[in-house]
Amino acid sequence: MEKIWANSGDSHLVEPADLFASSLPPALAERMPRSEVDDDRQWETIHVDGQSFRRRFPLGRLMVDADGRTVMERAPGANDPALRLLDLDDEGVWAELIYPSIWIWTASIHDPDLLAAGCAAINDWAIEYQRHSPRYVCTATVPVLNAATAVAEIERAADLGFVAAYFPVEPPTEEDWNHPTWEPVWEALADRGLVCCFHIGTEPHDASRTHGAYFRGPGGALLNYVETTYGGQRAVSKVIASGVFDRYPALRVMVSEGGATWGPFLADRLDEAYRQHATAVRPALERLPSEYLYEHVYASFQHDRSAPAALWAMGWQNVCWGSDYPHLEGTFGHTQETLHALLDDVDETTRARITVGAFSELFPHVPPPPAPTAN
Ligand code: MN
Repeated sequence: MEKIWANSGDSHLVEPADLFASSLPPALAERMPRSEVDDDRQWETIHVDGQSFRRRFPLGRLMVDADGRTVMERAPGANDPALRLLDLDDEGVWAELIYPSIWIWTASIHDPDLLAAGCAAINDWAIEYQRHSPRYVCTATVPVLNAATAVAEIERAADLGFVAAYFPVEPPTEEDWNHPTWEPVWEALADRGLVCCFHIGTEPHDASRTHGAYFRGPGGALLNYVETTYGGQRAVSKVIASGVFDRYPALRVMVSEGGATWGPFLADRLDEAYRQHATAVRPALERLPSEYLYEHVYASFQHDRSAPAALWAMGWQNVCWGSDYPHLEGTFGHTQETLHALLDDVDETTRARITVGAFSELFPHVPPPPAPTAN
């Protein structure tokens, strides 16, 4: 079987347990997000700034380790930027857009000073991680409780060498992403050439505002998982509808882990609304909403069988694949099987664009992957 090399538009680093304790005063460090797993490993509690959230502990596949013990299958390089490259080489993953793990809970922090301190600490650590390899594109986490603090950290991150910034799909503020308060943020991203990266499932964990993320009863787990898909689409809709791309045409947006076929679908819905409700639409846009989506927005998917068709059948060129390494929803351990199942039957142009081209367009400094090799 030929080895397919693919860039990943959705990967994660795993923060060391002592990251905040070693970089911040104890009074701040103890309020940062952390996970506490129950003894039976069925549930975990996430503690964030005085709040606690219970959730089922994600169970992975079981495997037998070298000593004959049954353990959870985990990527061995998940916690180490040097070992990580060995995992990537095995799997056929070349370059990665890398988000935090526990730190994607930033939208549940309500103290601006705490959030800014945490973002500075993790960004200082993540840039060192990125420096291990030109294959790593780490995201800077932006403190989004107010625009001024956000812009200050974007500027600092750009100076450090970040080319991508992580944003929750919904900010933890009264003003959502379509509000003019965020104007300086889009401007700073466009000016400094940072890609605005939304990762799905990152809404503030506050039941009063999260979009139905806590279904109970039959099918609850499935419903909750599927619900996380929609936040990226809402974020993109807000950015397009409020005219951000008219004002900042250099801005590029990535939505990670939310599939890809939604792009053409959402573009159609936005266009219909724009035409049929034209008298009510404010602001007027210079172009149709679909044109911004097709040109400025990118998406990464991992297992979705329909996703390649968003490119070859529907014409959206900005479809990226993503491994979600090292998370349990991801493809670690079966990346090549997944890539072959998804891409063996599509044309070479589509395959090259999904595995390498779209990612390289966003991050042109990343070196190309090796030529395909026999596995
Ligand atoms: Mn992910």
